[in-house]
Amino acid sequence: MNTSSTSNPFQSSPPPTPLEHFDLVILGGGITGAGIARQAQLQGLKTLLLEKNDFAFGTSSKSGKLIHGGLRYLKQGQWRLVWESCLEKARLLNIMAPQLVTKTSFYFPIFKSTKPGLFLTYLGMLLYWPLTFPYLSSFPKILSKNTFLKHFPFFKKKDLKAVLCFEDCKALDFRLVLETLKSFVQEGGIAYNYCFIKTQYFKEGRYYLNLSNEKYCTANCLIVAAGIWTPFILKELSLPLAPPSLSFTSGIHLTFSSTRLPIKQTMTLLAKKDQRPLYAVSWGSYILVGTTDVFLSKEELEKTQFSPSISKEDKLYILETLQEYFPELNLSFQDILSARIGIRPLVGSHEGKKESELSRDYMLDYHHSLQGNIVAITGGKLTTYRKMAEKTVNLIQKKFFPERKNWKSNSLSISLLGKNLNQSHKELTLDLLKIYFEEEWATTLTDCILRRSECFLAKNIPPKEIWPKIAQLAHYYNPKYSENFYLEELYTLFPKAST
Ligand SMILES: Cc1cc2nc3c(=O)[nH]c(=O)nc-3n(C[C@H](O)[C@H](O)[C@H](O)COP(=O)(O)OP(=O)(O)OC[C@H]3O[C@@H](n4cnc5c(N)ncnc54)[C@H](O)[C@@H]3O)c2cc1C
Repeated sequence: MNTSSTSNPFQSSPPPTPLEHFDLVILGGGITGAGIARQAQLQGLKTLLLEKNDFAFGTSSKSGKLIHGGLRYLKQGQWRLVWESCLEKARLLNIMAPQLVTKTSFYFPIFKSTKPGLFLTYLGMLLYWPLTFPYLSSFPKILSKNTFLKHFPFFKKKDLKAVLCFEDCKALDFRLVLETLKSFVQEGGIAYNYCFIKTQYFKEGRYYLNLSNEKYCTANCLIVAAGIWTPFILKELSLPLAPPSLSFTSGIHLTFSSTRLPIKQTMTLLAKKDQRPLYAVSWGSYILVGTTDVFLSKEELEKTQFSPSISKEDKLYILETLQEYFPELNLSFQDILSARIGIRPLVGSHEGKKESELSRDYMLDYHHSLQGNIVAITGGKLTTYRKMAEKTVNLIQKKFFPERKNWKSNSLSISLLGKNLNQSHKELTLDLLKIYFEEEWATTLTDCILRRSECFLAKNIPPKEIWPKIAQLAHYYNPKYSENFYLEELYTLFPKAST
């Protein structure tokens, strides 16, 4: 596709006038784009957000779902990142999304061979603890082997010295994206999923945009917040900003039923193969375990169309670790309820570094000239999305709208108060499906099941008797596809139910 800015695509077929004008058009409907859109709209910028696939289609539905400072980044000396993450965690938990973000205790078993040992690891936790100000989590504890094993009798006993315990938080990433978008729309913003820029040109300080949903608009500024796709979009749209230098790593998560892997709260487990920390996080009826961290080349990413498959080795890496710590449970491939793979865009080159040593910080860059007004942002964490949005909008304000003086609001004190925020998403019910289609932009059952409900993660398969009703309802909301198409979606997502 040639989307070059040098020719005017509107000359041959002029769009309807007047064109709707936006201060900003954001590309990318993951947590980064959603956060910036909300922040910009709250600060008085008229904003349009475009997502090429479904909202939270990318990494933002495939993360470890931890809202945390990142104790392990302290070891790498990344104090600013940890401090910023801790502050944001407190803000999300106490002000912005108390219904979505919940506390979880982390148990960190220390064996005779664990490095660093009990003393140094506990010292690290003691240093981490004051960073959790102002929410101040409970004081880190040392549990004796016997106390711990009373609660986790199936855990590996050999060489276990003690277990450290501290507190952090978790949140369903895709729900955070959706609720942030709802808050954005409530403030007057517009968000389209399954929509991208077909062609664009820039003239006299304005972009003229031809969108894939047959709409046209103009905008002062384009924000590319598309995670791993960011450098590719800058190139594809011929935007005058050098693509950032990124490395890519993949990370998988597996889910298990809590009856097979009875873990309460969260457990930190050092991987059997290379001693990297893995987290096993309880989400009630299921446990999310991950993640791997494996380099992927740019070529591999493009060859797999940004969706690499999950290898048997990836699954084994996690299964072997579980087998090491829960030898009596004999977990196997058959116990895996679901598997998902997410890709990290890591800022900088990976030459000479291990995957886990690359910074989880973000890159924010801009270009302002007669050729265009662009901001690109990539990298970062789910936890710090509000802060990243604040910094991006402050930059936009300073560079692109210096004449506007009366900036409104800060996003700190405004919560995501969606009306269904307390709703459980464990089961796929007809009532919930109505909400997904009517209020949360779902267009297919795949959108509902993978990015709005937890039913796929928990393998909570809706009863077979209601499948025709589900298909009917989906067809009612999106008649573009037949009822059979929706039934096929259910069979594809829940193949075991069909046998
Ligand atoms: C395995 C893994 C585990 C992680 N765990 C954690 C964790 O526990 N805690 C934490 O804080 N962080 C975690 N992270 C980091 C966090 O998930 C990411 O920082 C965050 O999700 C990135 O969001 P994003 O919006 O930048 O990118 P994405 O979520 O990837 O969104 C980019 C979007 O852009 C869209 N797009 C692509 N092309 C176009 C186009 N042309 N036009 C419009 N839209 C387009 C895509 O469809 C996609 O939806 C983890 C990351 C990984 C990979």
